[in-house]
Amino acid sequence: MTTTKQCSACKALKDVSCYGSDASRSDGREHRCRACIARKNRDAYRKRRGALGATYRARGRQLMTNENLLFLAKDKSQN
Ligand SMILES: [Zn+2]
Repeated sequence: MTTTKQCSACKALKDVSCYGSDASRSDGREHRCRACIARKNRDAYRKRRGALGATYRARGRQLMTNENLLFLAKDKSQN
């Protein structure tokens, strides 16, 4: 007997073996097929990386600015 389940993301009817297990679900399977989970994880990873990259760049620029200001201030007080 083959049990199929509709993926809530791509709406395709797939065999339950195409879904990962999720004990918190009533049927013990995730509501999205593995392909959709993989795609979502990939997108989330890219988004996260993109956001982190932007944060690091912004932070780096901020640090540079503060360090330069401190350096300039020290330099002035020494002279
Ligand atoms: Zn799917």
